[in-house]
Amino acid sequence: MTPRVVEIVPLNISDKDLMSAIAAEITRIFPFQCRVGATERLPTELLDEKRGQYHATRILEHLAASDRTSFRILGVTTLDIFTPILRYVFGEAMLEGRAALVSTYRLGIAPLRDDSPPSNRSVFVSRVLKECIHELGHTFGLTHCDDPTCVMVASLDMTHIDTKSSQLCYYCNIMLKDELNRN
Ligand SMILES: [Zn+2]
Ligand SMILES: [Zn+2]
Repeated sequence: MTPRVVEIVPLNISDKDLMSAIAAEITRIFPFQCRVGATERLPTELLDEKRGQYHATRILEHLAASDRTSFRILGVTTLDIFTPILRYVFGEAMLEGRAALVSTYRLGIAPLRDDSPPSNRSVFVSRVLKECIHELGHTFGLTHCDDPTCVMVASLDMTHIDTKSSQLCYYCNIMLKDELNRN
């Protein structure tokens, strides 16, 4: 059987250390291999010129339509993303689908420079990791969780993200295992 691989696709971002950290976190939580693809530039037609933001759902469709063989695709971008009903989103995913997306745009103390204090960087990285696990969780059918410490709780602002842990709660873990056993 070919190993099931999650592919991280850096979109308009070139932070290799961040991509490695995400890959390590994915393999810690999910029983899959993870690889980081080459950085891609998003087609400019995915930009909504009036809003100056990229359309998250259309990016997901763009990722899912690619001819990659990996069974899950996680796009990670520095660009600001939105869905039509929300001013902005930290991420978006196809529920039980193939593609997930996380934007670092609003997760930092951006722009992060090389001389940023490590604490800023570690807070930023921790937020990105949680959002990546959260969005990938949706692709395995996990919905929003009521447990405020679970990584699958809905995060509407940065405080929510900083409060929750990077772990799936007991119940989300069981649901993930059930889903993986089915497929
Ligand atoms: Zn969510
Ligand atoms: Zn949970």
